Amino acid sequence: MALERTFAIIKPDAIQTKHTGEILASIEQNGFRIVGMKLIRIARQEAEKFYEVHQQRPFFAGLVTFMTEGPALVMVLEREDAIAKWRELMGATNPANAAEGTIRKRFAENIERNAVHGSDGADTAAVEIPFFFSTAELL
Ligand code: UDP
Ligand code: MG
Repeated sequence: MALERTFAIIKPDAIQTKHTGEILASIEQNGFRIVGMKLIRIARQEAEKFYEVHQQRPFFAGLVTFMTEGPALVMVLEREDAIAKWRELMGATNPANAAEGTIRKRFAENIERNAVHGSDGADTAAVEIPFFFSTAELL
């Protein structure tokens, strides 16, 4: 399979609990190459747009507040089958259901404050990568 790119975020909870380094180590140990990375404070309007697919869900307002509460590390990761492999390494959305050894099992507090984001398909990655990165920022 050819190299693929996915979009990832280390969310504000994991930055606050100082798990950034361990998550990055796990990413590298699992064969991903970091193609783009920046620490940003996501703006409310950006979070609302990024998660617009969830606009009608009861957790939307809380999710937007959470994602904008502090710094987040946005990244583009590359490897073979990157989208599926990153979702696998992340673990289930609800850490209570996440497999042993996954990032969410290790570091997520609950279903909302769940440490990391990953694109859920090629179409999503194709939208999410340019949402946060220009071509020149992908190395
Ligand atoms: N989320 C939440 N409550 C829920 C489901 C999701 O707060 O019941 C939050 C959580 O931070 C999750 C994000 O909304 O990561 C996006 O939800 P999605 O279903 O896309 O999960 P993911 O793709 O992140 O696993
Ligand atoms: Mg999702």
